[in-house]
Amino acid sequence: MVVDYHTHTALCKHGEGSVEDYIRKAVELGLDEIGCSEHIPMPDKFDEVHRMDLAQYYSEYAPAVSGLAEKYKKQLTVRRGIEADFFPGTEDWIRGFLIENSFDYVIGSVHFLGKWGFDNPVFVHHYEERNIDSTYEAYFEAIRESARSGLFDIIAHCDLIKKFGHRPRKDMKEVLTETMKVIADANMCLEINTSGLRKPVKEIYPAESILALAKEFRIPLTLGSDAHSPDDVARDFDKAIALIDRYGGGRITVFDQRNRREVSVH
Ligand code: ZN
Ligand code: FE
Ligand code: FE
Ligand code: ZN
Repeated sequence: MVVDYHTHTALCKHGEGSVEDYIRKAVELGLDEIGCSEHIPMPDKFDEVHRMDLAQYYSEYAPAVSGLAEKYKKQLTVRRGIEADFFPGTEDWIRGFLIENSFDYVIGSVHFLGKWGFDNPVFVHHYEERNIDSTYEAYFEAIRESARSGLFDIIAHCDLIKKFGHRPRKDMKEVLTETMKVIADANMCLEINTSGLRKPVKEIYPAESILALAKEFRIPLTLGSDAHSPDDVARDFDKAIALIDRYGGGRITVFDQRNRREVSVH
């Protein structure tokens, strides 16, 4: 069973296509499930240039996903997901939003270290102004905090900090082991996200060294393309499935109303 649990649309202002365009592509590819996981609306105009606002969520996105799930139900399962930001200080707002909306799953993402949107190409020069090792350490501390928050089901693109190809000088094994331990204790899944292959780093998130540690901690895996264009639905899933075989016993986790079960990816 193959699913793509990480997809966006034009509503986030840095993607293209409608919810239906993504679903049609998933049907064409023969996927069993597609998850719609647009960037969550945030309070106080937080990063408003990269997301829909609350009014659009309720008037456009949520009804589109629910209506299309019904329309396409004979062809595939459409899951209601969301990519929620972990940003200290917004937890209560996010918790309220997640309770108010019945999602099948919630992907938790770290896109900011303080005010720095480190995965935004506009601010890539900040990498040169910082110590790369402490940047990596701060990033994985934020990932651990996101896991401890208890808000999310899935850790998104776990090593997004490598997006532009900046590598730590120090051995990160200890930091990564501690991070996997926290994710396992939080009973969360790790996403294999193929979008890194389309970024300067040209690698899947997370790296195999992280997946090897995840396997030791028996962390379940999910699968997502992070498509921001319908053409990228299930992109490079042959490579992702090879990793699921190697590090997840050929099994992925699927979600229904935030309950999960494991299924074979074949
Ligand atoms: Zn995005
Ligand atoms: Fe993301
Ligand atoms: Fe995303
Ligand atoms: Zn993403």
